[in-house]
Amino acid sequence: MTDIKIEMKNIGKVFETDDVETHALRGVDIVIRAGEYISISGPSGCGKSTLLSLLGLLDMPSSGSYAIEGLDVSSLSLDEAARIRNEKIGFVFQSFNLIDELSVFDNVALPLQYKKELPTDEFIKARVETCLKMVEMSHRADHKPNQLSGGQQQRIAIARALVADPAILLVDEPTGNLDSKSGDTVMAVLAELNKNGTTICMVTHDARYANMANIQLKLLDGQIVKDEPLKVAV
Ligand code: ADP
Ligand code: MG
Repeated sequence: MTDIKIEMKNIGKVFETDDVETHALRGVDIVIRAGEYISISGPSGCGKSTLLSLLGLLDMPSSGSYAIEGLDVSSLSLDEAARIRNEKIGFVFQSFNLIDELSVFDNVALPLQYKKELPTDEFIKARVETCLKMVEMSHRADHKPNQLSGGQQQRIAIARALVADPAILLVDEPTGNLDSKSGDTVMAVLAELNKNGTTICMVTHDARYANMANIQLKLLDGQIVKDEPLKVAV
């Protein structure tokens, strides 16, 4: 089917350190379709970060197959992984990872500088403005990140993740460094983006936020134990 963004089949990940083998993931099957909002939750050490690293091509699986928009990405060299990651993946981290020396505008524009063909200045300006608007931060384009609140910085990080029009937004504990009010605002932004078509996969240990996704995956000891669409209340 053409609307499948992500397809993982029977994914396993084994870490070998000295004489210890850790099976961080086993038999993981995940399909994410265009426009879906998936949450992954589970206790510490169950494999959430490992799964997100594999989804984001920061690491390769030990076994199984993985395709992004139909393209087999199961075993890539580091260079190929970096190229496809830039093209297809938008990342939002718990720590916002903005560059303090750059303006908000330049932070958001950054991923466009790594495109195969550098876009024109006009394109960059229009695209950055569109993304800042999506996170309701247009009025802060000329500020530096450290002049903004944590919640505002996370919204800028979301705009940056969206600017190169990725296949999917991967989000790791987006509210981990925020007070609950800013956390709620950031989650509202993600919900609104999803309503307007952005495909999202989010890792969170917060059950309340996990419930905002329409598909909730539960991981336990590296295996998916629950995968059910939310029943829509009528
Ligand atoms: P979570 O994010 O759910 O807390 P992780 O994905 O970080 O869990 O870890 C899953 C398991 O894999 C844990 O047992 C962890 O110790 C192990 N693990 C994660 N990364 C590595 C690594 N680079 N080397 C060795 N073991 C690792
Ligand atoms: Mg983790």
